[in-house]
Amino acid sequence: MLPIVPVPQRRLDDYREAAGPDAVERLRKAAAPLTGAKVLHVNSTAFGGGVAELLFAQVPLMNDLGIETVWQVIEGAEDFFTVTKFAHNGLQGAEVPWTPEMEAIYLDRCRSNAQGVAEGFDYMIIHDPQPAGILGALEEQGRRTGKWIWRCHIDLSAPHVPVLNFFSRQVAGYDGAVFTMEEFAPPSLRGPRLFVIPPSIDPLSLKNVYIDHETVYEVLTRYGVDRSRPILTQVSRFDPWKDPLGVIDAYRLARKEVPGLQLLLIGSMAHDDPEGWHYLEVTEAYRQGDPDIFLLSNLHEVGNLEVNAFQRASAVVVQKSLREGFGLVVSEAMWKEVPVVGGDVGGIRLQIEDGVTGFLVTSVEACAERVVQILGDPELRSKMGRAGRERVAERFLTLRELQDYVGMLSAL
Ligand code: UDP
Repeated sequence: MLPIVPVPQRRLDDYREAAGPDAVERLRKAAAPLTGAKVLHVNSTAFGGGVAELLFAQVPLMNDLGIETVWQVIEGAEDFFTVTKFAHNGLQGAEVPWTPEMEAIYLDRCRSNAQGVAEGFDYMIIHDPQPAGILGALEEQGRRTGKWIWRCHIDLSAPHVPVLNFFSRQVAGYDGAVFTMEEFAPPSLRGPRLFVIPPSIDPLSLKNVYIDHETVYEVLTRYGVDRSRPILTQVSRFDPWKDPLGVIDAYRLARKEVPGLQLLLIGSMAHDDPEGWHYLEVTEAYRQGDPDIFLLSNLHEVGNLEVNAFQRASAVVVQKSLREGFGLVVSEAMWKEVPVVGGDVGGIRLQIEDGVTGFLVTSVEACAERVVQILGDPELRSKMGRAGRERVAERFLTLRELQDYVGMLSAL
């Protein structure tokens, strides 16, 4: 059996305050016909990255809705995760090598993972490319049952074609495919019925729940960050698409205008991301020993509480991605009323209304300019902060996503 991820308890009724009592009732009503249904989520890591973050909230809440929901993670050795990282990069548009040997490594591992998938479920929701081939492997073994849904969190709008073609074949047999934005769905994808469901953040998780100033200060002090000087933060895996080097460049430009500015780069090391270790070193070298750039990760015990505190302590949050499926970190900061300067790409565009809830930028220079602008205008900062929180409350909280999921399961 593949490992089952233990999740914390969550109760829908606790969300009345954040989402409104109507939202809870609406969701219960919509989910009533699904009572007793069994849903299995499968992804590639229980930690580090947006999908794990989403499932920690959704799996317990679906159970509270009366839908029996279990989350399994696939297993893979380094060669498999190296191939899937190439696949991820290729699907986002990089011209990666893609060979029959790589396909063989991928398919071979999907076959062995297929052996360990729990049986007896009505709906299987398979996240991202890593486990997508499991359905094909089960079909080869004559063991397909239930409805299969591929939940793709990646922007597939400008892919490297050989990689896209391979994965289109892997998912052609699915009953449904879910994308964050309509434009992410490749026109060539034939077979599954398409759904558009943007992700969401959990307002009650330790990462997003309200914490007081003392707790925030305690965290800053623990990591040697000076609370009296402004803080710029990006929270992201160490990944070239998140452009941490571009963030350092933007920080260096902004610091010319705002002396004393500090930069926090917070990144977690996910076990399905072998590239992360290398890119952490690259970023560390680029820091050139600047004592006002803090490179922190889960290796320094930066967990949800610490991320929460760092986001709250920030004068501005940046998410300077060059491609982005969604970018939960954008909503996380907006929910805390911190304006975000984000790359004008993918799912960041869904969240940031340029000039209203933050700024969208396409260059290092523009990023630095917008950061300086917000830092110099406290009124703009608080106005954007409030608008950001409102936008997240309306569109990007857990219950809205659950409602969409329930709709999708019912439709299938
Ligand atoms: N995250 C974290 N610690 C880190 C880096 C990231 O807890 O050091 C979390 C972050 O708060 C967010 C998720 O990991 O909840 C990243 O999701 P996002 O959608 O922004 O990016 P992805 O990693 O899925 O591309």
